[in-house]
Amino acid sequence: METIHLPKKLLLKNARLIDPAKKLDRTTSLLIENGKIAEIDSKMSGTKIWDLNGAIVCPGFFDLHVHLREPGFEDAETIRTGQEAAAAGGFSAVACMPNTKPALDHAGLIRWVIEQAASFPVAVYPVAAVTRERKSQELTDMMELHQAGAIAFSDDGAPVSSSELMRRALEYSRLTGAPIITHAEDLSLTGKGAMHESEVSTRLGLPGIPSLSEDVATVRDLMLAEYTGGRLHLAHVSTAGALEALEMSLKRGVKVTAEVTPHHLLLTDEAVVGYDTSTKMKPPLRSESDRKALWEGLSRRAITCIATDHAPHTCEDKDVPYDEAAFGALGMETALGLLWDRGVRAGLLAPGHLIELFCHGPRQAVGLPVPVIEAGGLVELTVFHPEETWTVDANQFYSKGRNCPFQGWELIGRPWGILKGDFWAGRVEPEF
Ligand SMILES: [Zn+2]
Repeated sequence: METIHLPKKLLLKNARLIDPAKKLDRTTSLLIENGKIAEIDSKMSGTKIWDLNGAIVCPGFFDLHVHLREPGFEDAETIRTGQEAAAAGGFSAVACMPNTKPALDHAGLIRWVIEQAASFPVAVYPVAAVTRERKSQELTDMMELHQAGAIAFSDDGAPVSSSELMRRALEYSRLTGAPIITHAEDLSLTGKGAMHESEVSTRLGLPGIPSLSEDVATVRDLMLAEYTGGRLHLAHVSTAGALEALEMSLKRGVKVTAEVTPHHLLLTDEAVVGYDTSTKMKPPLRSESDRKALWEGLSRRAITCIATDHAPHTCEDKDVPYDEAAFGALGMETALGLLWDRGVRAGLLAPGHLIELFCHGPRQAVGLPVPVIEAGGLVELTVFHPEETWTVDANQFYSKGRNCPFQGWELIGRPWGILKGDFWAGRVEPEF
């Protein structure tokens, strides 16, 4: 993907500007100049014009949970291909998880990731490991990692199985201000499970992962967060039980935030019936009642973030029998289209709420400033067309991965790309 340098002055015409923080939602023009928002409702003539034909322009989306696979698994994704997938999906920034090889467990690696990402407009914020090599035996140097640029800590892909280490990590989060992102899973309950434990897993003859595996671990971490006063973020909440525990903790004033993925909002264990390994992920696709509960969690605003858990894998890791396949599904290039079509167009979410879930909630969870559409503000904008019809085809993705559980879905609403500072990056060519 080419990065396109913007003209000094560019007038975006026929743009539907939506910024819920500014109570802004109207179709007008926006002048950007030297990487800043110069004027809303601008009538400047003599400047370069890009007619957006009703595309939505909103503060840039931030994907709080992606796997960029570099260093160590460059066959599956690199920082650059992940950034391109992000731009194509409408994300101007992402937080990358530390389950690389080596794991992101020391300051030099955190700085290296940030440097690698600097040549492309999508900002990459590394999440550092909670424990060395993510082995749940010894804490990393969290203060030093935070100073090097880690915005949060997680052993994602695996839980911090030691409650004592999780307690101490949460105590450190009070000093750094950076949350501990928990991949809540009790590995002894997961066992060799390959999908959600249910009548579907019995029918398919696949070993099950019970909801309890997530519920028990979530309750433990919520209790540790309450006891320590630390900051906790729940990654990929997938069960009604974990949601109920979250809401109880929120009522008790625990400092906790939570995310949900598009696949847990839109798919259930029934999607596994064809043994498509793209439907194999952790936590697994749950039951219809869990799926419905997650939507209620969004509408009650207990869950304030949508994050993709974008997890590319090579074909070698996925073109194997279901119970041997790697866990994980792609997410960045489909998230916005899916949630616009099946969320906003289906009447489940207001457009402004969707933008908060992709932009505001994720940044607030890790304490990053939120971009705004106002004169003088820095340009960090997502552009997508709410009426563009398309069919999901993973073969056309910028990601190296092809493990997409939504292959062939027809959607209305499609990301175009991002404006960031002086640059455009995206799947469409700007016309000015
Ligand atoms: Zn995880």
